[in-house]
Amino acid sequence: MTSHVTSHVTYWAEYAWLPGANGPAVERDVLIATGPGGRIVSVTADSGPCPSGAVRLGGLALPGQANAHSHAFHRALRGHVQVGSGTFWTWRDTMYRFAGTLDPDSYLELATAVYAEMALAGITAVGEFHYLHHAPGGVRYTDPNAMGEALIEAAARAGIRITLLDTCYLSSGFGAEPTRPQLRFSDGDAEAWAVRADALKPREHARIGAAIHSVRAVPAEQLGTIAEWADERQAPLHVHLSEQTAENDACLAAHGVTPTRLLADHGALGPRTSAVHATHLTEEDVRLLADTSTTICMCPTTERDLADGIGPARALASAGCPISLGSDSHAVIDPWEEARALELDERLRTRTRGHWTANALLRAGGEDGHASIGWPEAGRIEAGALADFTVIALDTVRTAGPPARLGAEIAVFAASAADVRHVVVGGRQVVRDGRHLLVADVPGALRASIGALSG
Ligand SMILES: [Zn+2]
Repeated sequence: MTSHVTSHVTYWAEYAWLPGANGPAVERDVLIATGPGGRIVSVTADSGPCPSGAVRLGGLALPGQANAHSHAFHRALRGHVQVGSGTFWTWRDTMYRFAGTLDPDSYLELATAVYAEMALAGITAVGEFHYLHHAPGGVRYTDPNAMGEALIEAAARAGIRITLLDTCYLSSGFGAEPTRPQLRFSDGDAEAWAVRADALKPREHARIGAAIHSVRAVPAEQLGTIAEWADERQAPLHVHLSEQTAENDACLAAHGVTPTRLLADHGALGPRTSAVHATHLTEEDVRLLADTSTTICMCPTTERDLADGIGPARALASAGCPISLGSDSHAVIDPWEEARALELDERLRTRTRGHWTANALLRAGGEDGHASIGWPEAGRIEAGALADFTVIALDTVRTAGPPARLGAEIAVFAASAADVRHVVVGGRQVVRDGRHLLVADVPGALRASIGALSG
């Protein structure tokens, strides 16, 4: 990422959660040498005390966490949408009000602060599901990708990786014209979306993917255009799927099939596809998603906030779908909370324990999360992988007590974003001792950028 500054740094972690022949385990005194391309050159456990010249990282090193589903500007809604009651749809009206105030400059400021918050929480890569493309009323910016470029730049400033999942959003519902707030989202048709998306170029820290906002927002006959665009580029393809039963009802009324079946019929499912939420599915939907090896991106803190329901994540995983995790609306940004929610929601639903191990939950935020957003070479602390890792403290009020060998269980079931002490992305340290090294005052940046929107 910034190999010209800090390539070839060797880190020494007090403890690290490493892959092994018998599954992952916590090892001690782990030397992690980084090198060209921001990759890990070697990992050596039981290396003895921290050698001079190595950077000492106290605590437990874990793979950097992938936040596979984000809408950065939703961070501005925090608090505002918790007043009184309301529904998913009234929440969406508030979201549209905030969306209406953003321009490329203010979005750069806001997203930089939000991605810095993510880094402080242990997130090293974000999948940004981006649909706020145009100026109010749908007027094109001079650079039609000015908003997407602002997000790519924001990730660079915050020191994390981004996959810009450029989102096609054309309709207010099954072919109906976009409403006024939605004019900012629409390119007119999928062909025009593809032309605009083509102009986005990857960078060292940034990759480009595609997204179908939902089967509501893209007419069925245009779904294939987006799927083909992603196929041609071997790029990730994300889609909101069956978050609300109203979407299923409307899809059945319009097409006589479920949203999952509609996507399958138009070639939009597959191993590079991530279906986000997948809350309200039929048994056939689960089979279709599993047969196509589609990843399921669960966003438990948002799903609970919006009263969506508890999706069949365990059934999907057992059927063969990889699971990734996202903070989506950013009601909170805490990858450890997302991970534990997957298991704890299932416990509440079934009144039994033990659906996912801590190791499996770390895989959802690590390896499978990165694959979901098109960084398959990240998410593991091993030679050859990208040198992206996050270190949680084992000596805080939340994490002190258990032996370090239970580090995975501590991270997933007890730690919070506040326990993240160090973060390294591409071999470069971005967070040191809980302090962001690139964005000096993250709370101040959030206050300023959100305050500017809400007046
Ligand atoms: Zn979303």
